Amino acid sequence: MQIPEQGEKITMNGAGLNVPDRPIIPFIRGDGTGRDIWRATERVLDAAVSAAYAGKRQLMWMETYAGEAAWEKFDSWLPDETIEAFREYRVAIKGPLTTPVGGGIRSLNVAIRQMLDLYVCLRPVRWFEGVPSPVRDPGAVDMVIFRENTEDIYAGAEFEEGEEDTQRFLSLMREHFPERYAKVRFPDSSGVGLKPVSREGSQRLMRAALDYALAQNRRSVTLVHKGNIMKYTEGAFRNWAYDLAENGYGESFYTWRQWDRTKKKHGEQAANAEQKKAIDGGAILVKDAIADIALQQVLTRAHSFDVIATTNLNGDYLSDALAAQVGGIGIAPGGNINGDTGHAVFEATHGTAPKYADKDMVNPGSLILSGEMMLRHLGWNEAADRIINAMNAVIADRTVTYDFHRLMEGATKVKCSEFGNLLIARMQN
Ligand code: NAP
Repeated sequence: MQIPEQGEKITMNGAGLNVPDRPIIPFIRGDGTGRDIWRATERVLDAAVSAAYAGKRQLMWMETYAGEAAWEKFDSWLPDETIEAFREYRVAIKGPLTTPVGGGIRSLNVAIRQMLDLYVCLRPVRWFEGVPSPVRDPGAVDMVIFRENTEDIYAGAEFEEGEEDTQRFLSLMREHFPERYAKVRFPDSSGVGLKPVSREGSQRLMRAALDYALAQNRRSVTLVHKGNIMKYTEGAFRNWAYDLAENGYGESFYTWRQWDRTKKKHGEQAANAEQKKAIDGGAILVKDAIADIALQQVLTRAHSFDVIATTNLNGDYLSDALAAQVGGIGIAPGGNINGDTGHAVFEATHGTAPKYADKDMVNPGSLILSGEMMLRHLGWNEAADRIINAMNAVIADRTVTYDFHRLMEGATKVKCSEFGNLLIARMQN
């Protein structure tokens, strides 16, 4: 690792991140098309910072390694040095990585998130004018998903059908929890999965979503859960999240659960009046939706969703379904964040698309917009705004990479690097 001489470390103080004017930012280029999109992204981020701060601020890049490049150089898919750099320098960005087949690593991305306890998976979903979309009104989609990133299926325990451990587990269940065991339909040929969801894990995720809703002046926070079936994990997530909104933030939020309570005691009219008074007074509405219904309603009533807070598996489905509504995988950015330590890793949400590697062809939008999120995380909003404005203008000009070009009539197809050049030219003007 070459530590940039003039750069400084980002630190954490009581009020949050302490960002110097020349912060050292570790990056991983990524495998396959990661190399193409990183090249474009680095130039666009530098140009945005330079346009916004005229040399007063600068990102000091420090290359770190993971994936195929690390395997070739260091015989390790995820060198300790990389994780240490992410830990020490706090805020990092990465391209997509090949998932090693065999060798005991499930996914490098999941490993990085777990090692740094990055408990929020943040996925903003917004439409850029002109981007091809399968829905009638993609402009109604402007949501930010807070997906819990450490529990539920990420911390799940699974037992494979027929294995000795599984039989042992099922016998323990039969002995100690006979009523629950009686529900297992075919015990001799079942695989079994357990998913832990905790009060602590749910509330730290919810706190991040509520803080964000307040700081960004959002209209509502919707809890997405499957609590009608999984009462003590998904249902408990909903209850713990409501507890925090009702008890941790004074009058800043009004919840559907408060509405329910007032309705039971004093009738629907009184509940409606209470809600109206709270919202008119500036409170943000916190509501909830069962996951299956939420997946319908984000399509049919997109405008009624704003910030979404949800458990891990629901968040997985929702993020990808919503990304498709606004143009798909080529421009879906992501961030993995621990608000308590300030650690954050921003990343393209798609994979390495190896068949297009080194062809200077794919859409760099996902990684560039992940960089835009990183700039906001640093508090460099002026630079981030420039990227959003340039992206809007270049796509509205119908100059796009192959993935959008094949879906847009009369558009001009540009290479990955050319798309970056167009953004830079916009920002310099
Ligand atoms: P993928 O790399 O996401 O590619 C699937 C398809 O998505 C591509 O064939 C392409 O579709 C489209 N696509 C992906 N990136 C694009 C971009 N920048 N611009 C335009 N279109 C893009 O999925 P995969 O082929 O299943 O996975 C390949 C490798 O990536 C695997 O090793 C997987 O484990 C890994 N992976 C890594 C991450 C990560 O690091 N975050 C995430 C997922 C997968 P068309 O061919 O239709 O144009």
